[in-house]
Amino acid sequence: RQSGSAALLDDLNDQQRRAVEHIGSPLLVVAGAGSGKTRVLTRRIAYLLGERNVHPGQVMAITFTNKAAAEMKERVADLVGRRANAMWVSTFHSMCVRVLRREAKTLGMTSSFSIYDADDSRRLITLVARDIDLDPKRYPARTLSIHISNLKNELIGPEQASSAAANDLERRVAEVYVEYQSRLRQANAMDFDDLIMRTVELLQGFPDVAEYYHRRFRHVLVDEYQDTNHAQYTLVRELVGRGTDGLPPAELCVVGDADQSIYAFRGATIRNIVEFERDYPNATTVMLEQNYRSTQTILNAANAVISRNPDRRDKRLWTALGDGEKIVAYVGDNEHDEASFVAREIDQLVDAGIANNCDVAVFYRTNNQSRVFEEIFIRMGLPYKVVGGVRFYERREVRDALAYLRVLANPEDTVSLRRVLNVPRRGIGDRAEACVSTHADRERISFAAALNDAAVGKVALLNPRSQRAIAGFVELIDGLRRFVDDGQDVAEILDAVLDQTGYRAELEASDDPQDASRLENLTELVTVAREFTEAPADEPPPDAVDSATVGPEAGSLAAFLERVSLVADADQVPDPDDESGGMVTLMTLHTAKGLEYPVVFSTGWEDGIFPHMRALSDPTELAEERRLAYVGITRARERLYLSRAIVRSAWGQPMTNPASRFFDEIPADLIDWRRMGPDRSSPSRATTWGSRATGTGRAGLRPAPSKGWQDTTALTLDVGDRVNHDKYGLGTVVATDGTGPRATATIDFGTAGTIRLMLIGSVPLVKL
Ligand code: ATP
Ligand code: MG
Repeated sequence: RQSGSAALLDDLNDQQRRAVEHIGSPLLVVAGAGSGKTRVLTRRIAYLLGERNVHPGQVMAITFTNKAAAEMKERVADLVGRRANAMWVSTFHSMCVRVLRREAKTLGMTSSFSIYDADDSRRLITLVARDIDLDPKRYPARTLSIHISNLKNELIGPEQASSAAANDLERRVAEVYVEYQSRLRQANAMDFDDLIMRTVELLQGFPDVAEYYHRRFRHVLVDEYQDTNHAQYTLVRELVGRGTDGLPPAELCVVGDADQSIYAFRGATIRNIVEFERDYPNATTVMLEQNYRSTQTILNAANAVISRNPDRRDKRLWTALGDGEKIVAYVGDNEHDEASFVAREIDQLVDAGIANNCDVAVFYRTNNQSRVFEEIFIRMGLPYKVVGGVRFYERREVRDALAYLRVLANPEDTVSLRRVLNVPRRGIGDRAEACVSTHADRERISFAAALNDAAVGKVALLNPRSQRAIAGFVELIDGLRRFVDDGQDVAEILDAVLDQTGYRAELEASDDPQDASRLENLTELVTVAREFTEAPADEPPPDAVDSATVGPEAGSLAAFLERVSLVADADQVPDPDDESGGMVTLMTLHTAKGLEYPVVFSTGWEDGIFPHMRALSDPTELAEERRLAYVGITRARERLYLSRAIVRSAWGQPMTNPASRFFDEIPADLIDWRRMGPDRSSPSRATTWGSRATGTGRAGLRPAPSKGWQDTTALTLDVGDRVNHDKYGLGTVVATDGTGPRATATIDFGTAGTIRLMLIGSVPLVKL
């Protein structure tokens, strides 16, 4: 089909086309940001299906986020039609869950195993550490958990860790690790790192299992290969195979950019990309050099910054898109001022018809920096969405509800069981829990089995009241489990849980406003469950090759739990929504990887914030921060803004941070300084700073925004005034500061907190 092939290839450049058409040997595509790596991967899949007659069931593609996976699948479906659904396109973790559910028995688990996230895992580590009498001050659970995670990322199992332990810390970690793994097994649970490690174990230890997957997947493709860790690298190797089982190795295609490796703290190593040709001796490498995303100005800035990193292969990106706008830089008096600048600027871009809200992204280094943007955006009525932060699924009430569901799906799930044992309070105290736990240890039975014993009076030292309470709990869970056995919808099961446990009633009875928002979150969770039942849509699709054997039944409780366990920050990035102009997206630099926006604000460019404090004295960390800067800059297509604040409060203290050293790494002629700080060395810059309040133009300073404070009146408030705010409710003014455009009031909103607001523009605030 000549025309089909042309359609798949004609909007690619020569190098891209080479990568798409390449047959046989392992293929590495290395290239800078925005050069079409992801596009090549997607197109290659379409080409395999459309032109090389590959069955979609033979394709496995790995992306960095679930959202990226869904998008890739959609793109391929656009190109080749619905049969694209039989491909496996997912993150490493989702892919492993699918394999592990299918093969659970081989590993001595059942397919209903629970997936423990970082918080569950830390809880279990805390229990283990306590049981072996570790001093929590010397060995905090957090530290233990990081060490264990690192070991797993290196595929070092508990026994190996024990025998290799060379100092006291390592011995302690190994001791905890051994016990932690055994408790996980007992609870029929795996943590995130296990998902990878145990899949590797499966493929390495069971040749017939490995052969099944070799036979099935003839094409393995990996995006963002620079952020794979050792375990993931090995997993890919095992999936591809070495031809030893009589099957030729699968065709492998990985794409990545060593300059965008930003997950070293999770064990990611650019070694995997740098040494690809050594790992796969007959490999072919394709390099892409044309960038299709950004203006030359943005690229020059990105190139200039990243070129300061040592030990890297220099690559020059070029674009045909022209120089475009200069980069705009701004120095705020404080973080509120910085955020106001961002908000005003977005407002103007939208007013001028240059961008919609959904074209704009605001980046920061750490999640806690989002709060001030939210405050200002709310006040300005600017619709926004924060991606990440304290996530919905991390909220206490949501976790409690999910823990109940997990107990129903997996009766042995100790961490979830212990989480809800006395939530809401039902008279099963710590002492009773300890008795049950001791009994479980002594009898070598699971915590769940010990609870059953306790309910019928077979546990020593348990007082009758606790016994009755436990019996009631066991009965409650058994009753709820019937809903699952009857095949009820997830939403109905969840509803029953919230009712029968008394969880909802307790929140309803409370007059704490926080409990009201907890109720809302639970209602939201029921909605999520309902939507899931109605449209279990994307995952797992009806599978042409072996539908019966893959994943939990669509729409089932297990499928629901799997879905919510694997949601990551980046999956919540909103899709552009044209009709309403959409929302501005706020996220960390890490979350922004792989994405692109016409307008990008990268904020908090201060030494100690970005680059992070940790990096100031550590060249390795600094290089990683610089890659993060490179990622951030290269997300922008047309306009890039960089900003910082002179004073920023951290831990409740005002802190003065110097300008980020990354500013100095960008050629000065690329930057249009809207406003400079007093600590810049050049005298002209200092003058500019001095004149800022009057808003008159000096070098580098633009006139005040046309639509700004001049044509809106500021609300005048005095200390002691009572006010009502649309979002925060009633409050009392405790301090005021500044005049005109800079007028602010600090207002005590009671439980909503004490908040400083600017008083210009359309403040949703009335004086009472
Ligand atoms: P990153 O390193 O940030 O992940 P990438 O190398 O994966 O970037 P893509 O996201 O695939 O780059 O492509 C960047 C942009 O350029 C996208 O909007 C893509 O559609 C566009 N693009 C890529 N190749 C071409 C091409 N040959 N013609 C036109 N547009 C292209
Ligand atoms: Mg990409």
